Amino acid sequence: MTDRTPPVPVKCLVWDLDNTLWQGTLLEGDEVRLPDEVRDVLAMLDSRGILQSVASKNDHDMAWQKLEQLGVAEYFVLPEIGWGPKSDSVRRIADQLRFAHTTIAFIDDLPAEHAEVTFHLPDVRCYSPEQLLDLSVLPEFAPATVTEDSRQRRRMYQANFRREAAQAAFTGPDEDFLRSLDLVMRIARAEQEDLARVEELTLRTSQMNATGVHYSDAVLRDLCEDSAHDVLVISMADRFGPHGAVGVLLLARNAGFWHLKLLATSCRVVSFGAGAVILNWLITQAHTAGVHLVADFRPTDRNRMMEIAYRFAGFTTDPCACLAASGLPPNADIQRMHLVPDRRNEPGTMRLITEDLSTT
Ligand SMILES: [Zn+2]
Repeated sequence: MTDRTPPVPVKCLVWDLDNTLWQGTLLEGDEVRLPDEVRDVLAMLDSRGILQSVASKNDHDMAWQKLEQLGVAEYFVLPEIGWGPKSDSVRRIADQLRFAHTTIAFIDDLPAEHAEVTFHLPDVRCYSPEQLLDLSVLPEFAPATVTEDSRQRRRMYQANFRREAAQAAFTGPDEDFLRSLDLVMRIARAEQEDLARVEELTLRTSQMNATGVHYSDAVLRDLCEDSAHDVLVISMADRFGPHGAVGVLLLARNAGFWHLKLLATSCRVVSFGAGAVILNWLITQAHTAGVHLVADFRPTDRNRMMEIAYRFAGFTTDPCACLAASGLPPNADIQRMHLVPDRRNEPGTMRLITEDLSTT
C-alpha cells in the first residue's frame, strides 16, 4: 500500500552556511563562493512564501557581513550564527516564528549535525546539499497556491519584528504608538487573484468572523462575477512594511438596504481597531447611498469579539420595516442585526484608501 497523504508543507528552511549555502569555510580564510544555482533556490523558495533562516557555527559578524556582501542577507529571518548546538538554534527559530517542528526543514553538509538535530527535534526534516537543486520539485516545498501574500510573506515577518521591537521600546500611550505607525488601510473590490487569500482569511479568522462561515475559492469566484454582490478585500500597511490581506467583506446591495453577509478580519489587526474602522466606513457609505444596513451574525463559540464590534458600531436586533420588506428568508441560525446609518468620522489612527460604493 502506498501512502498518498501529501507531506506537511515546509514553512521555514534553516540553512547551514559553510559548504552548504556557500562553497568553502569562512573561518579558514577561504574566499567562499555562492553558486548561482543556490542563489536561484533562495529566490525561488522566497517567492513561494517559504521563510529561510540560518543555523551556522561561525563568527556572527563575519558571517553576516559575508551574507550581505553576497547580496543574500535580506532573505534570512532570525539568523542563528554562533557556537551553540544547532538543535538549540533550530528550536529558537521555530519558537520565535511560532511554527510547529513538523513545518521546519534543516539543510547541512555534516551528517553529525543532522544526527544532533534529529536526536533533539525528531519532527524537523533534514536535507543534505546534494538535494539542493531538487528542493524546488519536492512536494513539501511546493505550496498548493502562491498568493500575493506568499510572495511578500518574508517582508511581512521582517516588518513585524521591527514593529514589535519599536513597540517594546515605545514609552507613550498605545494610541500615540498607533499614530506613529502611519497605518494605511485599503478597501478594494477583490480581483480574481485576491480570492485565494480571501478564502484563506475566512478559514483562519475564527475569532473575528461574523458568521463562522468558510467561503470556498469557487463560491467567492461566483460571487465576484455576480453583479448583486461586492466582495471587498481589506489590506493594511504601515511604515514598517505590509500587513497583507487582513479582512474580507461580502455585501449584497439591495434597494433600500445593504446586506452585510460576512465580515471577517485577521486577529493580527484587532489591536489596530480594524473592525471598527471598516464598519464605520461602510456605515458612512450606506448613509451617503440613503440605505439601511442589515448584518448577518451567527454566534459561534469563538466570535463574541465580532458581536461586540457590531454592537459597538450601533447595530441592534430591533425590528425595522426594511427587514420586514426585505424578503430575506428567516434563518434560525443567523441573527439579522440592523442599523440606520449616519455619517461617521474618519479614523484618527489610519489613512483610508477605498472604493466608493455609494455611487457605483
Ligand atoms: Zn431598516
